[in-house]
Amino acid sequence: MASRTTRDYYEVLGVSRDAPLDEIKRAYRRLALQYHPDRDPSPEATEKFKEASEAFEVLADRDKRRIYDGYGYEGLQGRGYGGITDLDDVFERFFSAGGIFGDLLSDLFGTRPARRRRARRGSDLLARVTLEFEEAARGAEREVDVERLRTCGDCDGTGGVDGKSPETCPACHGAGEIVQRHGFFSVGMPCPRCRGEGEVIGDPCEKCGGRGVRLERRAIKVDLPAGVDDGMRVRLVGEGESGRYGGAPGDLYVEARVKPHKVFQRDRDNILYELAISPARAALGGDVVVPTLKGDEKAKVRAGSQDGDVIKIRGAGVPRPGTNAVGDQVVTLRVGIPKKLKRRAKKLYEELLTLEGEE
Ligand SMILES: [Zn+2]
Ligand SMILES: [Zn+2]
Repeated sequence: MASRTTRDYYEVLGVSRDAPLDEIKRAYRRLALQYHPDRDPSPEATEKFKEASEAFEVLADRDKRRIYDGYGYEGLQGRGYGGITDLDDVFERFFSAGGIFGDLLSDLFGTRPARRRRARRGSDLLARVTLEFEEAARGAEREVDVERLRTCGDCDGTGGVDGKSPETCPACHGAGEIVQRHGFFSVGMPCPRCRGEGEVIGDPCEKCGGRGVRLERRAIKVDLPAGVDDGMRVRLVGEGESGRYGGAPGDLYVEARVKPHKVFQRDRDNILYELAISPARAALGGDVVVPTLKGDEKAKVRAGSQDGDVIKIRGAGVPRPGTNAVGDQVVTLRVGIPKKLKRRAKKLYEELLTLEGEE
């Protein structure tokens, strides 16, 4: 807590140690008016406003003041008092505390200052597209139908007719919250009039009903790069929902679903394939023809190949998106023993068997 004030609270408010509550109120009022962020947005003023508010929060409270007088700030800390860290803290504490703070603040500022509408980033959206296995390998273009909230063009997002800015909500005086007291408890709930925004539109834009955003249906083109894999997402920056109050729009993610292939399988940028060969081919080796995504390719089988042996066809896989790398086709040899033999083949096998017996 290096940045917090170490100045004496009485000194901050410029009052004597035995100043009565009235004087403390007056002193705070003067400082708050001078340094209120709505009047002076400079960081120095904000710092002073916080400092004065913290001093006031303590000195206007009989119990806190007594602890402070006796034990200083450390004494308050020891009793769970946290000090004021930022501007929102001031408004949160003072307005939720009600009583003297609420009275003083409404006396000071008329109503609660409208909550600063914080810039809010628009939501991200997710769409899915389904691709054939081959399409994923070579890349594809698609249109996705997206329903999204976008800034209303008629009111430029203000929600008011002709772009008129919203006004402080009369129901909650800008708090965005209605506090109901039940004995000792107060319960806060979002203001139904302004839906918690703290502001309402006097003359709402007809096109968006005063919301400043409109549901829009739009077909958006997306390029799925060659080599896109099942579950991969393409991000379209800014194509999500519009931000509010100056916030950036969200992004649209398009997730690819890749259908399985009859004979090929994907392993990242490699294509897996099983090639059936005969025992003779396995024994003798030689050239074989292997189907790939780009058509038939010749490959060599080593003499004496075993079932399960692997040969690779370099570069016959798919590109790895975002790189120049291309995968291979990984061919697993499956040696098939014939279930039925034609007459001549049978004779040759018999000869082979005799030969094996002699060896
Ligand atoms: Zn509008
Ligand atoms: Zn309201």
